[in-house]
Amino acid sequence: MLHKVLEIRNLSTTAYALRLERKGLSFKAGQCFNLGLKSSGVNREYSIYSGENDDYLEFLIKEVKEGIVSPSLRKVPLGEEINLHGPYGSFVIDPIKVEQVQFCFICTGTGIAPFHSFIRSHPNLDYQIINGIRFLNERYDYDEYHPFKITTCISREKSTGFHGRLTDYLSKIPVDTKSVFYICGNQKMIQDAYEILRGKKVSGNHIFTEAFF
Ligand SMILES: Cc1cc2nc3c(=O)[nH]c(=O)nc-3n(C[C@H](O)[C@H](O)[C@H](O)COP(=O)(O)OP(=O)(O)OC[C@H]3O[C@@H](n4cnc5c(N)ncnc54)[C@H](O)[C@@H]3O)c2cc1C
Repeated sequence: MLHKVLEIRNLSTTAYALRLERKGLSFKAGQCFNLGLKSSGVNREYSIYSGENDDYLEFLIKEVKEGIVSPSLRKVPLGEEINLHGPYGSFVIDPIKVEQVQFCFICTGTGIAPFHSFIRSHPNLDYQIINGIRFLNERYDYDEYHPFKITTCISREKSTGFHGRLTDYLSKIPVDTKSVFYICGNQKMIQDAYEILRGKKVSGNHIFTEAFF
């Protein structure tokens, strides 16, 4: 399906939010879509960033150096159509649990996208986010999260929050084994975070993962 570009918000030199017309498309927060330039035949998966009740579709995209799709989507003129297929995926919240459990969202970089969608879609969600980034300017749309509900681990500069890798932080803190954990980002971080949680006696049934690369 073709969807017009409504807005491209620059969030840093390498990240942007791509907003498209929704055209009544339904999805569950946490799912992803395949996006690509019109008639290019090349597309990539992107997690939905907007909420289930927003009247637009939005994606949080990091421009990968020398990548094919992520830099080109940033240059699409407003009003132009891009190709979209989906939704796909099962990295979603069980509707029965939405107001019953505490969620811990663990992510690096643009891996925060599905959690942004969860929180916009379910305003009463009881959540904590642990967000691993390299630099302070990778804190995307932080005003949308409750300041007490997000911990930032910054690895490459000393600033606010925890100085170090997300996995170092996770190793140091106590975790509530009754919480439900969602981990999203690169495969190595997911594997490490998973092992740390299992080492802290979190059941494998309470851990859900989504790898971006
Ligand atoms: C289920 C799923 C959901 C995804 N959701 C998002 C999302 O919400 N936002 C987002 O920005 N990306 C997301 N991705 C990654 C995205 O699909 C692309 O892989 C990414 O945009 C690179 O595509 P490209 O064509 O620009 O680069 P390519 O030409 O395909 O690849 C260039 C190289 O960059 C590596 N790479 C891919 N992503 C990154 C990254 N973030 N940082 C560093 N290196 C990387 C690839 O492994 C590859 O080696 C998701 C991937 C999956 C599988």
